[in-house]
Amino acid sequence: MSLTDILTARIREAGPMTVADYMAECLLHPVHGYYTTRDPLGAAGDFTTAPEISQMFGELLGLSLAQAWMDQGQPSPFTLAELGPGRGTLMADLLRATKAVPGFHAAAHIHLVEASPALRAEQEKALADYNVHWHDNVEALPDQPLFLVANEFFDALPVRQFLRAGANWQEKLVGLEDGALTFGLGTAAPQPALAYRLDDTKDGDLVELCSAATPIAACIATRIATHGGAALIIDYGDWRSLGNTLQALRHHARAEVLTAPGNADLTTHVDFEPLTQTAKSVGCDFARLCPQGVFLERLGITNRAQTLASRLDGYPLNQLIAAHRRLTHPSEMGNLFKVLGLYPTGSTPPPGLEA
Ligand code: SAH
Repeated sequence: MSLTDILTARIREAGPMTVADYMAECLLHPVHGYYTTRDPLGAAGDFTTAPEISQMFGELLGLSLAQAWMDQGQPSPFTLAELGPGRGTLMADLLRATKAVPGFHAAAHIHLVEASPALRAEQEKALADYNVHWHDNVEALPDQPLFLVANEFFDALPVRQFLRAGANWQEKLVGLEDGALTFGLGTAAPQPALAYRLDDTKDGDLVELCSAATPIAACIATRIATHGGAALIIDYGDWRSLGNTLQALRHHARAEVLTAPGNADLTTHVDFEPLTQTAKSVGCDFARLCPQGVFLERLGITNRAQTLASRLDGYPLNQLIAAHRRLTHPSEMGNLFKVLGLYPTGSTPPPGLEA
């Protein structure tokens, strides 16, 4: 039975499902889920990410977190965590770059939150030299100072989609037409969680609601507010979501969202505003949302690239120049991707970010 068959049977029995339920099944179904069954990263996969483009990304994030750890008096022990670590490349680069920071590795307990067995196996290989703990969710992270990175994790969380209809909202649903999966609309109803969006939307506008992100952000922010620490959350998206940002990606090209469930990556742009509101509500401060290019330049990516370049020529040198541009240039990833920093109230933001 394919995932299309499973979802079709479910809709026949229980009626149309939310876009969030559809996303969750496509990405994490135990047998057919996109992430559960494969390593989707790299040239042979469906998409690539900043840590896979260049080692400089993980190195600079590591140095920012290590400096934040020093600025907060080097708490020991502390949790060094990553959400959705993919192939483990970012964490491996981060650890290599922070080896020389006195006491950092000795105090760090490495915890990874990863839902995919296939990717856990990759992470185990990449981090074979370290003592690593894996978890299914953030609630399992120890109750102690938390220094955390999450790159392209929140964009994989399921969102619900709503169309404005007067003071009400119609939810976009996945149903059936002539036996095939198709989008439709539910009946108009009030949505208390979207009350604040009545001010900046008009009839027919589509907004997205990522309910799954709230408890995750609350959990991270509570640990940081209570015990100290910092979080660097990097993703494509912006301050307030407007419009349909759900997209399917297969073999580095756009695909149809409904045609091959479980065989294409599904993502949405991250709406950072609710994450900051959640952090604030538990007493954790946040830095001004910063474009990735600006953040990496402030951390000295150009100097780092020049150092690496001095040992290279030919193809590897061209690759390095292209990677630097890809990560930072406003027309590439530099502007589309944003960095959100969380830190304890009364402390300073992690280097690269501003209060
Ligand atoms: N951070 C990596 C990988 C990004 S892909 C990089 O930048 O290369 C998204 C990652 O999040 C994958 O590791 C995926 O398996 C994981 N993931 C997606 N949804 C998740 C969930 N609900 N819980 C835990 N991990 C999840």
